[in-house]
Amino acid sequence: MNVAADLVELLSSPKKIIITAHQKPDGDALGSSLALYGILKKMNHQIEVIYPSEFPSYYRWMPFVDVCKIFKKTLHHHLIIEADLIFYLDFNSIDRIEDMKLSCNESNAVKVMIDHHLNPSQIAKYSYSNTLASSTAEMIYSFIESIAQTHLIDKDIATCIYTGIVTDTGGFQFSCTRAGTHLVASQLISLGIDIEYIYNNCYNNFSIDRLKLFGYCLSEKMVILNDKVAYISLTELEKTKFKIQEGDTEGLVNFPLKIEGIEIVALFKQDYDKIKISFRSKGTNDVNAIANKYFNGGGHRNAAGGSSFKSLEDTIKLFEQCFN
Ligand code: 5GP
Ligand code: MN
Repeated sequence: MNVAADLVELLSSPKKIIITAHQKPDGDALGSSLALYGILKKMNHQIEVIYPSEFPSYYRWMPFVDVCKIFKKTLHHHLIIEADLIFYLDFNSIDRIEDMKLSCNESNAVKVMIDHHLNPSQIAKYSYSNTLASSTAEMIYSFIESIAQTHLIDKDIATCIYTGIVTDTGGFQFSCTRAGTHLVASQLISLGIDIEYIYNNCYNNFSIDRLKLFGYCLSEKMVILNDKVAYISLTELEKTKFKIQEGDTEGLVNFPLKIEGIEIVALFKQDYDKIKISFRSKGTNDVNAIANKYFNGGGHRNAAGGSSFKSLEDTIKLFEQCFN
């Protein structure tokens, strides 16, 4: 099977296409899906970008963002069923699209997965999995190259790809940043994107409440477990008190890593039905393994996530036991 040749053939006539990404889409999920939207639109396809859940409002500045829909079975099930093609971006396990998976599984559309997370499952007929890629957005650039459409990348599409790369590499600081990542960035910059505008929109975009929440968590809620491990937990009550909006805790888990010697950090967030956990680490400390083994999750070696259905206290206890 020549995947690129098959996709060139599939995309050679107008198709009904759905693009989706993982629940609670982040900068890479948004950047990769909106970049692909921009390209496929120029190729005259009929496209819907539908996410399983809401994305942070601070990404509202992104090009094409107004086309994004949040999945509602009554509104979107039929679109998924009628689609010719579905692109799964920035996830590799079908549970990551929550209830939307029922409609996708029922659809006879040809599925294409483009993703960079570890341990991919077979969820699509055509799978592009590159666990060394910095981001799915970087893979979208390669995908566009593989279908010979790089000439279609304009400033808006380049902005979307760059946003995905910047957010998943933490501004080119994480070890997932490779020489090839910079080469793609270089191509995008040569298309005239405004890197300061993108960076400010991604990182210097806090509401006052959000910054106060970070201050509170770092001064009141951070626990240093030992010389190497720290964690922060947030209860539902605290989330209400600080008027937490979707995406407000994004980036918080990185802060304890600023402490010299701290190499592993967890953030526990209490939801009505589960505890959602984010993990970050430095160097060879493998938080993907912890997320996978104990917390029903996964991700990458240095950035992973998971869920727990125990109480907040018991979830934290389980985490602490990983280091005894
Ligand atoms: P974050 O902590 O920013 O939500 O996620 C960190 C990384 O882990 C991201 O690459 C994200 O896609 C992945 N991740 C987060 N939560 C989960 C989860 O529940 N399951 C899996 N497999 N990956 C997750
Ligand atoms: Mn990603």
